[in-house]
Amino acid sequence: MKTNIKEWGLPVDRMFLVAGPCSAESEEQVVSTARALARGGVSFMRAGIWKPRTRPGSFEGVGEAGLEWMVKAREATGLKIGTEVADPSHVEACLTHNLDILWVGARTSTNPFSMQAIADALQGVDIPVLVKNPMSADVGLWIGAIERLANAGLTRLGAIHRGFSSKLEMRYRNAPNWKAPIELMRRMPDIPMLCDPSHICGRRDLIPAIAQEALDLLFDGLMLEVHLDPDHALSDAAQQLTPACFFELIATLNLPHEQGGDSAFAQSLSALREEVDDLDERLLKLLSERMDIVRKMGELKVAQNVSTFQPHRWQEIVRDRVRKGTALDLSEHVVMEIMQSIHEEAIRQQEIRRVNGVE
Ligand code: PEP
Ligand code: MN
Repeated sequence: MKTNIKEWGLPVDRMFLVAGPCSAESEEQVVSTARALARGGVSFMRAGIWKPRTRPGSFEGVGEAGLEWMVKAREATGLKIGTEVADPSHVEACLTHNLDILWVGARTSTNPFSMQAIADALQGVDIPVLVKNPMSADVGLWIGAIERLANAGLTRLGAIHRGFSSKLEMRYRNAPNWKAPIELMRRMPDIPMLCDPSHICGRRDLIPAIAQEALDLLFDGLMLEVHLDPDHALSDAAQQLTPACFFELIATLNLPHEQGGDSAFAQSLSALREEVDDLDERLLKLLSERMDIVRKMGELKVAQNVSTFQPHRWQEIVRDRVRKGTALDLSEHVVMEIMQSIHEEAIRQQEIRRVNGVE
């Protein structure tokens, strides 16, 4: 776990853990949920007050009254409290109620104007803020949202991976697409990264596997939606856990370390890593050779006014490489992704020559 998140002034036990209902629904619900969660390990209790709903007419949150209920829950249990803000008026209301932490939702981090307005409202305020990924897997936009807050002087900033909207993803509500948060961790290594399995999964039964996968990928913690009576929740009913299920899940999760293991492990790992380094070098050389040939083909095509893209040939390549790759125990998905990247670059290389003229 990144040590900086432990210095945010919020309790951190095995991981940074956020739990609470999707939405605050009543004072009784918020306070009772806090009591159920107060038995330990929770860094702050979440509850949505202003709910960004896809269509009007659904439950859009209880508004500022919910902040009063959260403050009462904090007084009753000592739990820290946080909610989602989407505009400067939300920020102002949260600061008035002295919330311990804020987060920005996926629909808001998608919009740089909204992010800048929130950053301006937070200028000079020292409060931790978590930024959920934008709706689409645009890591630059996610980083930009965090940078706007950093430029406003905020120092306790974290990210939440809640998956990406995708019409292709059937299993999950929001595609996990782990390579996006991994890329954010590479480019912003000091920003703590949480995972929100509730919004990725959209249904309870898928949550444990995604939560464990996040921890295996060295995420710093989890945000989980917890409701006293999930089936009757006013929003996101299918994905909320009861407090009992939540505590059971947390207890069963395994937390691996980045470093460690005995010396035999270290030796074996480093020998295998050398093999991987060597193979990667060979792969890169092969790719470079392949691009040389692609460029020659491009020149031939230009000379004969033949199109860069050859749909029939491409179909044939995909069929052939998927067949050969799967016979070698590679997944169809990975073969497709690799071939598509190579093909995209091949087209780019040939087009550069067509547009600029071949030297
Ligand atoms: C939420 O946390 O309840 C929420 C609205 O999430 P997201 O912004 O990830 O959709
Ligand atoms: Mn929700």
